[in-house]
Amino acid sequence: MRPLIFAANWKMHHGPAAGRRFIERLGQLVPPAAGRELWFFPPAATLPAVADALRGRPDGRAGAQNVHWEPKGAFTGEMSVAIAKESGARGALVGHSERRHVFGETDEDTRRKVAAVLDGGLVPMLCVGEKLAEREAGRTEEVVLRQLDAALGGLPAGSLDQVLVAYEPVWAIGTGKNATPADAAAVHAVIRTRLTALGRAADAPVLYGGSVSTKNVTALLAEPELDGVLVGGASLEPDGWAELISAGRPG
Ligand code: PEP
Repeated sequence: MRPLIFAANWKMHHGPAAGRRFIERLGQLVPPAAGRELWFFPPAATLPAVADALRGRPDGRAGAQNVHWEPKGAFTGEMSVAIAKESGARGALVGHSERRHVFGETDEDTRRKVAAVLDGGLVPMLCVGEKLAEREAGRTEEVVLRQLDAALGGLPAGSLDQVLVAYEPVWAIGTGKNATPADAAAVHAVIRTRLTALGRAADAPVLYGGSVSTKNVTALLAEPELDGVLVGGASLEPDGWAELISAGRPG
């Protein structure tokens, strides 16, 4: 059975002290649970504190928001996979919409990053998704499949099994406008089919991200195609996050 995954992308929020306090407060509100993964992607400097606070929480995992594909060198401001791992990361986001559209990350960059993350023994959480104009032009599938093929096309089947994919329509991120559960499920089915064609064993978990909140998470996760959610704004406050993950999968 695929685990239910709740991933928190804190973006440029929460320093080490706030990150640790968040995890401690969450521990008071929600005990660890089997069959569930709680991923936290804090800023790089907060990663060790969050990873440390998550010890003793078997459903908790810390991850990096970004890594460079090179193992070391003159790349000011970047973090290697090995440094992320030493800082407590068990995975890394790759190709988040802000990396692609604010920092100009290309499909080729995502390919290199996924390969480096896998080489380092971490889990890449690859984000894919279309912009509003692409959706309105009926190009959602084409864009998402291009991003998937570019990032994962050359991987050996075995490594593909370690990859998590998050469908995050760009127009839904931070806008308060989420994809409907049915629309998200339709894209997830397309993603899952392509992952299988690329060599992934059945049961690839696919997450949805884009304005997920306590108000819509139950309806979104009622869709069996959705294996979890990647959340920005609604993941920043521990009581709200506890409520959101407790909404879980209904029934
Ligand atoms: C994100 O940053 O991945 C995200 C989905 O943000 P938000 O939940 O705020 O839309």
